[in-house]
Amino acid sequence: MNAIVIREHGGPEVLRPEVLPEPQAAPGEVVIEVTHVGLNHLDVWVRRGVPGHDFHLPRVPGSDVAGTVGGQPVVLHPSWGCGGCAACLDGRQNRCRNFRIRGESANGGCAERIVVPAWQTLPIPAGMSSAEAASLPLALLTAYHMLVVRAGLQRGERVLIQAGGSGVGVMAIQLALAWGCEVHATASSPEKRAAVEALGAKAWAYDAVGVREVDVVVETVGGAAWSASMRALRWGGRLVCCGATGGAEVPLNLRALFFKQIDVLGSTMGSNADMIRAWDLVKAGAIRPVMHAVLPMSRLGGAHAVLERREVVGKVVVAQDLSHG
Ligand SMILES: [Zn+2]
Repeated sequence: MNAIVIREHGGPEVLRPEVLPEPQAAPGEVVIEVTHVGLNHLDVWVRRGVPGHDFHLPRVPGSDVAGTVGGQPVVLHPSWGCGGCAACLDGRQNRCRNFRIRGESANGGCAERIVVPAWQTLPIPAGMSSAEAASLPLALLTAYHMLVVRAGLQRGERVLIQAGGSGVGVMAIQLALAWGCEVHATASSPEKRAAVEALGAKAWAYDAVGVREVDVVVETVGGAAWSASMRALRWGGRLVCCGATGGAEVPLNLRALFFKQIDVLGSTMGSNADMIRAWDLVKAGAIRPVMHAVLPMSRLGGAHAVLERREVVGKVVVAQDLSHG
């Protein structure tokens, strides 16, 4: 079958088509006919490489996968644990030392077919396209675990979401609104701020965050945004961080940390149960896809370039065309 394979790190040109052996399903597994793959910044990190991290190339990229099994439309859990360690048995798969993310530490969906354990399929609700469904899981799971599990979001709290137009940002805005929260978000351009306001958040430029006494900050940026996040928090506030797109080293004023009694919380992905609970919110209509573009899978490099320009609000999805691309 046709697939996209990364054999060495680099620019979009390292995303090359290859013919791989046809995948075979073992007992308990199913073959997914892939129709769409949603892109995340993780795809860019896997392609470029990260200093000090081994991605175990070669790798088929693509974390967020939608397709059909026996004609039924499904979308896939993006991650799983070993199933046997204490963290997994506690239902905290994202703390498993053998935690896997599809397209990162296991082969992903940029292929004609993929074999997965049957439990990893989630039904796509009626009225939602496969492209829309492929835009959701990883960002939704990340935002759900940050806000609901790590920060313990309470109804009516005031929330600031850094990079509100990002994949995680648009999910976090919708989750916080579903919790009845007052939602503020930063975005870099007037166009992105308009899109964030259309979702129901009050939008701010990064260097002009005017909200204070915030209960929870969602941080995906780091870098220069970090100090504004710390300033915006109320005494006893929580800052939850899942990314560092603007820089991983940040200044930390310890006096502000201890006087204001701030909780700084790290978060990565979520558990299997978190994914199911977050998907229930999709089925209930509380979370909607926010799409930027659907592009051909055979031009995956071009889709990466769109993502890397950072002008997008919501998700870039690629559609299956590898057999004739
Ligand atoms: Zn485990």
